[in-house]
Amino acid sequence: MAGLRDGPKAEADGASDGSAVATPKVVVDGVDKVYESDRQRVEALSDVSFTVSEGEFVCLVGPSGCGKTTLFRTIAGLEAPTGGEIRLDGEAVTGPGTDRGMVFQEYGLFPWRTVRGNVAFGLEEQGIEEPDRSRRIDEMLELVGLDEFADAYPKELSGGMKQRVGIARALAVDPEILLADEPFGSVDAQTRDMLHEELLRIWSETGKTVLFVTHDVEEAVKLSDRVVVMAADPGRVREVVDVDIDRPRKRTDPAFAEYVDRVRGLIGE
Ligand code: ADP
Ligand code: MG
Repeated sequence: MAGLRDGPKAEADGASDGSAVATPKVVVDGVDKVYESDRQRVEALSDVSFTVSEGEFVCLVGPSGCGKTTLFRTIAGLEAPTGGEIRLDGEAVTGPGTDRGMVFQEYGLFPWRTVRGNVAFGLEEQGIEEPDRSRRIDEMLELVGLDEFADAYPKELSGGMKQRVGIARALAVDPEILLADEPFGSVDAQTRDMLHEELLRIWSETGKTVLFVTHDVEEAVKLSDRVVVMAADPGRVREVVDVDIDRPRKRTDPAFAEYVDRVRGLIGE
């Protein structure tokens, strides 16, 4: 599987003269998405294009209804675009795959499974047997700091802990890309700050490519290498902003506030 995926990429990477031309990890290429019914026609995405490099942390930010979730679902392979194409490592997305791990705002945990059982899910789907499965689950629970809660049920956990289970579950099958749709939208501000630190640590430890959807401009500036700023009606890219601030980033840093103002200005807040 990995070998098949590496083939075309290796070719594209190594030009015949020996120079390396990196294939972007994710290419969103002229994507349109129209929802049509008898009564209405919604242009959720119109000619959306941007790329994400391997290991990059990119946030999609924009007002409610600008197509963030639609784009997330399209990259995830849960929706087909009505125009254009998404490519991962140069190959068109035609459906979901274990190369993309997903985290949702509403956790999406199985209430009848323990923390361990939730993290096990994708591994079971992939047919990973014991003892490898347990070893991987233990690694993931340690990564998100939940080793003590392996046997708890979701209802016994706080919102922040549930979301850490969601992250552990998404990463368990070792996806190349982590896709998150407003994952911290349901937790309080203090927990959110803590989850930001954790996510950034996990990102730097694992080297994953992260695409993170949020409507919170400060969250986008805190986390990303680049912010894709979207606008609504139709959903489109307004501008892509490079966030050139060293990490760890502080909200009190004047440069941080400047980026936040700039992105807010683009959104029209
Ligand atoms: P966001 O996540 O940025 O708030 P969405 O992607 O959820 O935006 O929605 C973008 C637009 O597409 C909105 O106008 C929304 O009402 C519409 N939309 C989203 N999903 C559907 C659907 N399944 N059917 C019809 N319209 C939809
Ligand atoms: Mg949304």
